[in-house]
Amino acid sequence: MPFRDSSAPSLLSSSLPIRFRSESHAHHAFGDSLACPRRHSLGLRKAQAYVVEQLQKASLEPAGANGFYQPVRFNQYEVDESKSSLALVTGGKSKSLSFADDAFINTRSTRASANLSAPLVFIGYGLQIPEKNLDELADLDLKGKIVVYLAGSASDIPTALASHYQTAGERWKSLHAAGAIGTISIFNPASMDIPWSRISVNRNHPSMDLADHEFYETPGLQLGVSFNPASAEKLFDGSGHTFAEIAALGKDRKPLPHFALSTSLKANAVILTKALESSNIVAKLTGSDPTLKNEFVVLSAHIDHVGIGAPINGDRIYNGAMDNGSGSALAMDIAASLKAHPEKVQRSILFLLVTAEEKGLLGSKYFAAHPTVAPKSIVADVNVDMFLPIVPLKILKVGGLEESDLGARAAAIAQSMGIKPIADPEPLRNLFIRSDQYNFIKQGIPSVKCDITFEPGTPEQKIFKDWLTNRYHAPSDDVNQPVDLQAATLYEEFTRRLLLETANAPARPRWKPDSFLRRYAAD
Ligand SMILES: [Zn+2]
Repeated sequence: MPFRDSSAPSLLSSSLPIRFRSESHAHHAFGDSLACPRRHSLGLRKAQAYVVEQLQKASLEPAGANGFYQPVRFNQYEVDESKSSLALVTGGKSKSLSFADDAFINTRSTRASANLSAPLVFIGYGLQIPEKNLDELADLDLKGKIVVYLAGSASDIPTALASHYQTAGERWKSLHAAGAIGTISIFNPASMDIPWSRISVNRNHPSMDLADHEFYETPGLQLGVSFNPASAEKLFDGSGHTFAEIAALGKDRKPLPHFALSTSLKANAVILTKALESSNIVAKLTGSDPTLKNEFVVLSAHIDHVGIGAPINGDRIYNGAMDNGSGSALAMDIAASLKAHPEKVQRSILFLLVTAEEKGLLGSKYFAAHPTVAPKSIVADVNVDMFLPIVPLKILKVGGLEESDLGARAAAIAQSMGIKPIADPEPLRNLFIRSDQYNFIKQGIPSVKCDITFEPGTPEQKIFKDWLTNRYHAPSDDVNQPVDLQAATLYEEFTRRLLLETANAPARPRWKPDSFLRRYAAD
């Protein structure tokens, strides 16, 4: 699972578990043995080869574009700070900003070198949400301007709507239409997952995106800057407002004012771009029904993790045993158990091990947009990512429980196994759109992601909290940590039943009529 704030650079992304492929070799087929300047990428290739071997042993058929593999092309973006600069200009006087302390150029939103100077306008949270008659851009002249906004949303906007309109692509749609050319995002000091110091120290790790132009969501966006709230007062000098006033409103998620600032931003951004390539793995178990076998229930799990990074206690290997060795192992084990105990399966089951989840759900985004089976034939996605068998499985959080009859089926199966199903108790963390199922949802496909969880106020809550603090995205997420194997077994059995029941149900899953997520479905 990637970090929450997609505007923050992901940690450790310099250690891509993906092999670099130079443009000059682009004519070679994927999977050959080109020189590989990033030695750790060998790890991902070995892991993928092992998975393919296991899926073959389980008698699954290849269902990628190239045997079991579906090649995916990426670009990596990096700022050359030694050649870049940011400055605020007020009344003809220029004051330079420090990348480490004040603001940095964010490569998730700055995709090409840019040299520009533009006036700033504060746009509150910067959201246009027609469903709530909210238009924070109304009556503002944004043509040729750089907009400044506070990350987040007002509390009267339902969570699902707020997170939908805060995605980079949706937010930019309305800003672009209003004529803006750049963005400055100020972190909301009241809701920062990690402190500025930790964000800033990792700001120069490269970001990654799918290479194909169709996935480019921010056309016309020339510059994206992330701003330290502790330095944000500088932006408001001479505007008649202070950042202290904005932050106080933002703390309680109250509506914010909108006004032109009296400063301009002068920016010189030098961006370096590199091409990379990796692949998803796709295998299928063909169903027995002559018609239904042409429909697919997807079991997805990401196989990548964050690679080799900064040492913690002398260890540089970020193993990712839970995140997401656990999900990858579960997929291989279910394949093996279906071979050992063949069950009648009417629809086909697709085993999908995606790449680059930690880089922003990219492998699944590519697969969902370019599936290797007919797009309309995918009836459901059951995604498994870091299901955390670290306590006995008594309570199962079913992400998407109330959204579709797939969610309802998951809850019923859990109940029949003596497990209590619950909906997401922390909707504000947006967990349901933070793993690969989100890309299937965006294609209209009913999806669930289920995770072992705890009763609030019990000692188990502390076990989870400690795990997140100490092992999540750290070298100690390794095979030496305590695992509740009984919980893992039970979770796997639950997942197996969910796949089989969905594959054998007469009707394909449907979104609930009142589900927010139904908006992506064509019907
Ligand atoms: Zn992760």
